Amino acid sequence: MRVKVLGSAAGGGFPQWNCICANCSALRLGTLKARPRTQAQVAVAPDPSKWFLLNASPDLRQQINATPELIPPTGSRGSPIYSVILTSADVDCVMGLLHLREFQPLHIFCTVSVRRILTEENSLFRVLTRSNPPVRWETMPLDRLMPLVPPSSPGTKDGFFYKAVPLMGAFPDYVSDALRQSLPPEEAVLGLQLIHKDKRFFYGPSLPGIGEEWRRTVDESDLAFLDGTFWRDDELALAKRSRRTAREMGHMPVWGDRGLLRQPFRLGKTRHVLIHLNNTNPVLNEDSPEHRTVRDAGWEIAYDGMEFQL
Ligand SMILES: [Zn+2]
Repeated sequence: MRVKVLGSAAGGGFPQWNCICANCSALRLGTLKARPRTQAQVAVAPDPSKWFLLNASPDLRQQINATPELIPPTGSRGSPIYSVILTSADVDCVMGLLHLREFQPLHIFCTVSVRRILTEENSLFRVLTRSNPPVRWETMPLDRLMPLVPPSSPGTKDGFFYKAVPLMGAFPDYVSDALRQSLPPEEAVLGLQLIHKDKRFFYGPSLPGIGEEWRRTVDESDLAFLDGTFWRDDELALAKRSRRTAREMGHMPVWGDRGLLRQPFRLGKTRHVLIHLNNTNPVLNEDSPEHRTVRDAGWEIAYDGMEFQL
């Protein structure tokens, strides 16, 4: 299985168009040792002809065009993008679906709640039904091993599977109260484990840090992309951007007593990678002590174009 990072920043990207935080300002001036980053987007392929997008970022058009594997091969009948798997209905996870509206039949995997938010309250997404055949919404059950690509014959291990892990985050602010009250909260935010042959990849760009099941799933994975949005719980207040804390926004901070780096992960086979980095996060500065702390802990930091082969 190949795992490609097409975008590694949180919503707004890095730099963010209207932000004057220390990181964004210094990056624009060219005085920061850091890479610019587009908004979080990952693509996974169990074989070279079938790519699965994990969410659909607002930068998706640019990200596809920058990735040779995702461009229709010469003489082919279309895009190698086969399906999109949504982990939540956040704007940054779904806006890119509108880039995929150009008459390409697609499968979109998500919970019933996410589908209802997109199709019942947000009529713009009805443009996806214009393809022939129209887009197919596939319901993701929770905590069950399900096929994305069935095995080539019964008993063989070459299928591609997923498990959706409920993370107990919140539905986005834009959802109406009336609809929100009818939606089961466990369908709001998912972690996703993808399994091909004996390799497992976990994707959790938003981790509220509630319960322990998500951590067990990380521990059994060979590679885990984890929530690197904020370094500190009060990071946005320090940057004078918001009064809300990281945890109030559904993101466990990387640093601090109950932060991501202090979680009792089992040591061993899992490669831990921070993704979904907000532009205020000091980890982005490669000369910072925070960047060094992450690297010294044995963790990696995602950048656009990073790639893994499992
Ligand atoms: Zn900024």
